[in-house]
Order: sequence, then structure tokens, then C-alpha cells
Amino acid sequence: MSTSPARSDDRPRENPREGDASASDQARTERLRRLAEEGAAELAAIEASGTPQEIAAAASAWAARTFGDSLAVACSMADSVLPEVVARQAPGVDVLFLDTGYHFAETLETRDRVERELDVHIVDVRAKASVPEQDAEHGPRLHDRDPGLCCAMRKVTPLRETLAGYDAWITGVRRDEGPTRADSPLVTFDDAFGLVKINPLVTWTLEEVNGYGYEHHLPMNPLLEQGFPSIGCAPCTRRVAPGEDPRAGRWAGFEKTECGLHAGDDAEDDLADEGSRDEPISVRNRITLTPVDHHRSGERR
Ligand code: SF4
Repeated sequence: MSTSPARSDDRPRENPREGDASASDQARTERLRRLAEEGAAELAAIEASGTPQEIAAAASAWAARTFGDSLAVACSMADSVLPEVVARQAPGVDVLFLDTGYHFAETLETRDRVERELDVHIVDVRAKASVPEQDAEHGPRLHDRDPGLCCAMRKVTPLRETLAGYDAWITGVRRDEGPTRADSPLVTFDDAFGLVKINPLVTWTLEEVNGYGYEHHLPMNPLLEQGFPSIGCAPCTRRVAPGEDPRAGRWAGFEKTECGLHAGDDAEDDLADEGSRDEPISVRNRITLTPVDHHRSGERR
């Protein structure tokens, strides 16, 4: 049996439209990388010598000027300092709220206050599956057994899909939050999500954030004054003792310390973050607050 050399016609052909899409994605990535580098260079002087408030204002103004409507602010509704600081430079800016279905009632009340009182546009970002649908597929209380998977489904994937519609996002990451965030840049290209990431509060301390919020009478999550310096989903957040690391109350009992949105600017690595525990989180979290478990109607882009 003889074989003949493969003709060029036998080789799989690349779909020309796929090729176009890939080239356009690459061009977009290169453009955004260049903008991130330019922004970091432009803001270097103010970052080196400005006050935390001056740095935040300058970074927000650069972001508003550079990205216009293609800019979004992420907000966990622990406080509203970041949306307020950004909205001063970008009135009506989109504020993304990860509505996981597991938030404290106090967090949802804070979200509603932010929508009423600040010049921002809230975008509720939700998983495709409701909590009951997730329970039906994976069993109840997935957060107790596999918080990495739960965060991936309820936070990271919906956020990734939403961020695909923007060129830049602004987050409240601060260097004082712990070792994983100690080197966070003011402006960078976010490889994990494929867009520019700006951290205007990166040089602020927790005390400065809270001080600014209360001084300016901004919507602040009431849980801050009840022993919760870092507030996430109710099943995965506990009170911390005075002097304890503020993030010690997140996923207590697991090695997990991040939700996969920021760690080392590499969300993919963090998605693999799994831990073990010797005590159910639900027991440690049997506190006076009531976790809510509802799926609210709202807008999503
Ligand atoms: S923080 Fe907890 S409940 Fe919220 S998405 Fe992650 S694992 Fe699930």
C-alpha cells in the first residue's frame, strides 16, 4: 500500500473568521497593555510623592480620561469609599456588585444605599445558576466542602463574563491587606481577566478608608462596627478578634485567603486554591446575623 504526501488541501483549514477574531483580540490586548504601561508611567510621580487621597484622585481621573464608559468599579459593599472617590472623576460610572446569593442582609442594604446616594450605576453580577440550582447540581452548602469551586461559579466566572464588556476595571485592593497584596501596583494589565486594572486605594490603610467613609457620611456596611473588618459571603465570613489580621475572618479554617479575583494578579492560580478544615464553617459562623439567600431581580450587562 502506498501512501502519498498530504496535499495542502488535506490540512485542517483555519476558519478565517476565527483568525480575524484572534488577531483582533491580540490587538486589543496589546493596546490595553500599552495603555497600562503609559498610565503607570504617568502616575509614577504622584504615586511617589502624593498623599493617598491625591493618588486615588489622580488614578481615577486618568482612568476616566482614558477609558470613558468602558470603565467599571468593583465594589463588595463593605464600604462605598472606592465608588465615591471614582465617581468624583467619573460621574455615573458602572459599579459591579457580585451578587452571589450568599450576602449578609447588611451588605445588600449597603448596596441599595450606594445606588440611592452616590452618582453611580450599579450592575448586579450574578451566576447563571441560582443558589437552589447550584444546590441541586452540587449538593447543599458547597461553600463548606469546596469553596474554590463555589467562588469560581458564583464570583470569578460571572465577573469574567461581565468584564469582557469593559477595557478597564477599578478595584479596592490595598497593599496593607496582607502578604498576597503587598506589591500590588497602582495600574497594571490584568492578565487573568484581560483588561487594565487600576487600584486607586492601593496606598491607603484600612483606617484611612474607614476614616474617609465615616467623615464623608458615605454608606458603610454596619458589620464593620460589629467585628467584621473584611466582609464577604455570610457562610465564609466570621468575626475577628481585636488585633487579628482583618482577613483572618474570610474562609477561616481553609488555606484559601482570596476569592480568585486578585491574588497575585493571577486568578487562575487561585481558582485551584482548596483547603481542608477540621470544623464546619457553619458552626463557627452561628452568629447573630442572618445570612440571606435570595436571588434578586436587577440589571446585568
Ligand atoms: S465566598 Fe463562600 S459562599 Fe461566597 S462564592 Fe465563595 S465559597 Fe461561595
